[in-house]
Amino acid sequence: MNTTGQLNILTFDIEEWYHFDIFSTEDKWNNYPPRIDLYLPRVLDLLDKRQVKATFFCLGWIARTYPKIIRQIQQRGHEIACHSDKHLFIREMTPESFHNDLRLALDSIENVTGQKVHSFRAPAFTISEDATWAFEVLAQNGIENDCSIFPTARSFGGFPSFGEATPALIKYKNCLMKEFPISAGVIFGKQVVFGGGGYFRLFPYLLIKNLMSRLDYNITYLHMRDFDYEQPRFKHLSAMRYFKSYYGIKQAYSKFEKMLDDFKWINVEQAIQRIDFDTVRRIELS
Ligand SMILES: [Zn+2]
Repeated sequence: MNTTGQLNILTFDIEEWYHFDIFSTEDKWNNYPPRIDLYLPRVLDLLDKRQVKATFFCLGWIARTYPKIIRQIQQRGHEIACHSDKHLFIREMTPESFHNDLRLALDSIENVTGQKVHSFRAPAFTISEDATWAFEVLAQNGIENDCSIFPTARSFGGFPSFGEATPALIKYKNCLMKEFPISAGVIFGKQVVFGGGGYFRLFPYLLIKNLMSRLDYNITYLHMRDFDYEQPRFKHLSAMRYFKSYYGIKQAYSKFEKMLDDFKWINVEQAIQRIDFDTVRRIELS
């Protein structure tokens, strides 16, 4: 990667506390108490104070249901990006159903912001090796930057053949996409992802700091629910999923504050200015 200095990209996924659970379907969402705006103002104030601009991947459903949330983020000068409409897994969709979901999401977000969306992250990183067709759908809908690749194996897919977790240019048919994969560190010879969700909450801050310091490229995927200890718990999750979903919430916000202080952060839009995409790895997918 041809950049000067370490590249640390701060991103959040803007969804509710219940959107990660595949059994909590849309018909139930309006019955759940909203919690998305409990931590968001605090996060936005902190980013202002540190003069950091982040990228917020927002669900189209959130833009329609709580347009004020999207406006709040936009007014502070952050990049508004897309995280699909209803948080469905792309690898389980068809190109047509993904197109419809994405179009609705982009229209809903752009209606609120009046600005075009350029960046996308798949729900649960579900552009896996068997769903590369999604890049064509993204490009056809004006997306230029993707942050969906999870470069190791994971329970909902992952993309272990991606190789080194650094920005790359993906070529799929006639489409070119700037890819910002989730960054991964190495612990005991194993690649681990720690920029958000379960591992971010599980690992002590000093370990995270150490892993980050050793990489040229880091990208986060934080959620408001990672900070929200009071959120209702889904009791039906398996013991492992329950642990991964709720462990370490109490300490997560102060870890986030330390991480903001210890590193220099930019968003996806700013990162594009810093990277010479003519010199990055080119990956041809079929
Ligand atoms: Zn998500």
